[in-house]
Amino acid sequence: MVRCTFYGAVRTVTGSMHLVEAGGARLLLDCGLFQGPRAQAAEINGRFPFPPSTLDAVLLSHAHLDHCGNLPTLVSAGFRGPIYCTPATQDLAALVMHDSAKIQQQDAHSVNKRLRQGERPVQPLYTTADVDRAIGRLTGVAYGTPVQVGTARITFANAGHILGSAITVVEADGRVLGFTGDLGRSNTLLLRPPATPPALDVLITESTYGDRTHEPYDTAVPRLGDAVRQTVARGGVVMIPAFAVDRTQDITYALYHLGAAGPAAAVPAFVDSPMAVSATQIYRRHPESLNDALRAELERHDDPFGSTTIRYIREIEESKTLNSRTDPFIVIATSGMCESGRILNHLSRHIGDPRAALLIVSFQAANTLGRRLADGVSPVHILGETYDVRLEVKALPAFSGHADGSEVLAWVRKIPRVGHVYCVHGEEAQSLALAQRLAAAGYAVDVPTRGQTVEV
Ligand SMILES: [Zn+2]
Repeated sequence: MVRCTFYGAVRTVTGSMHLVEAGGARLLLDCGLFQGPRAQAAEINGRFPFPPSTLDAVLLSHAHLDHCGNLPTLVSAGFRGPIYCTPATQDLAALVMHDSAKIQQQDAHSVNKRLRQGERPVQPLYTTADVDRAIGRLTGVAYGTPVQVGTARITFANAGHILGSAITVVEADGRVLGFTGDLGRSNTLLLRPPATPPALDVLITESTYGDRTHEPYDTAVPRLGDAVRQTVARGGVVMIPAFAVDRTQDITYALYHLGAAGPAAAVPAFVDSPMAVSATQIYRRHPESLNDALRAELERHDDPFGSTTIRYIREIEESKTLNSRTDPFIVIATSGMCESGRILNHLSRHIGDPRAALLIVSFQAANTLGRRLADGVSPVHILGETYDVRLEVKALPAFSGHADGSEVLAWVRKIPRVGHVYCVHGEEAQSLALAQRLAAAGYAVDVPTRGQTVEV
């Protein structure tokens, strides 16, 4: 018998975490950071619904913060086992967790500066030292190489979502369970398409875009080219908020190829994020997730991430020099949802300029500045100031790194047999919509509630 309890990213997107009990082992699928209002996030991230010391291993699907970002808390709360993940995830997760500790320490510092009398100071959820202890437990396992915990056999397969992302397959007690982590798309710029797992008794699938149909991926690059050309033609600055991991590499790769075709090379382009600089180096080191075309370019020593044509900025002083530029340029900066990071400096400088453009190239969660801008809200608050929004905000959803509802369905149909599907990792309406589509296609499917346990 295999038991699964759904603890996080259930009827919501962030905080991915599920407990699987199989083959005499207690295995945690992901340990992601829940991102939401401060008090709720502190409560959910700070307290585990099980004693962490009772777990035998963590199986980490990929290095996004909402999947790996609470591992340091788990380790400081007593977890002592291995954290299995692919070697690329091992490198990227170290980067992402260190960045998270830095943001939390800065955030706690800025809240504590504004404390009123009698209010208790806020503590960061974890520190750099906690992150180092979690990194010490990361254990890289290549795609297709099984590891054994108890009598459970665990294998990772390519999920095509970001570098190193994995579909996790757990075989134990005569049952097979599959977990998509986040599922990518089949023809993206950088990655190999998602692998097809073997016959499954249970499939836990993400449902971020359960009721959406993305534009075809091959429209993404031409549309980016059009948006850049139009903005530059009217003398505006192009700002692209992007996660340091994956979306930045997608965009630099697209700009590089557009540059080869002409239009985007007319203006300078900058990647303004120290973390993105490091992440791009990790992409170069791990060709095992990359698609054949990109591998061939790297083997030919081409420059697909534009390290000679795009200026990568680490130092804050150099970042500030962009503020004094009056000519059009392109800047890619974190954070991807405009919640923190250097994108805020660029936005506050250009948000009132009708010639400028903000290009939205990734998922924007509810209650983020990126979502408010995408929804046309004005005025907005940035770094304590109020701004009227006069720049153009343009969404380019074709760049999405998540399979849409029909792409998930097409992928599920390739699996030889699926006993029961559980939809997680989506806002409730999206999870329910995907469940409806799967049910209409003849699958037994449920959207679990938080804390629900199922047995097969
Ligand atoms: Zn992800």
